[in-house]
Amino acid sequence: MGAPADEGAESEERAVSGCLFCQIARVERPSHTIFAGDGAVAFLDIFPCTPGHTLVIPRQHYATLSEMPAEEVGKLFQVAAMVATKVQSALGAAGFNLGINNGKAAGQEVFHVHIHIIPRYADDGGGSMKSVAHFKGKESLEQIAAKLRPALAQP
Ligand code: AMP
Ligand code: ZN
Repeated sequence: MGAPADEGAESEERAVSGCLFCQIARVERPSHTIFAGDGAVAFLDIFPCTPGHTLVIPRQHYATLSEMPAEEVGKLFQVAAMVATKVQSALGAAGFNLGINNGKAAGQEVFHVHIHIIPRYADDGGGSMKSVAHFKGKESLEQIAAKLRPALAQP
């Protein structure tokens, strides 16, 4: 069609310039940044679930995890594991949850990929990852597995 070749690039630029977390990564917006690496930044969540609740983001803008190249996902998780371990130790937490709200249905509000690190404390009132949803569906585990195996056999 007649669309300019760089239309995609332009809309990507608009998404990035208006993105809260891109602005934090570029230090254009105040944050409580605790780690600034070449590829990723970690800062405290402004509405923490527990003390030390941290968000780890890639410097490069991706709206969701599903858009990120596998190599970048690997690097981001390496940083998240390192930051989480140090946050737990520095704050004397008893453990942590790592999680991603991927997509609106999963609770994602900021569409720049971020990994939540939620330090856990004895008697903090929280549950496990299994407490985020309660819908069993009607299919058996084997029916579900049979649907998934072909999808995962693709490269
Ligand atoms: P999510 O629901 O996974 O998209 O989470 C977005 C998170 O970003 C929420 O936990 C918010 O509290 C947090 N948040 C929103 N704005 C800021 C900000 N300016 N600085 C730090 N955290 C923020
Ligand atoms: Zn962004």
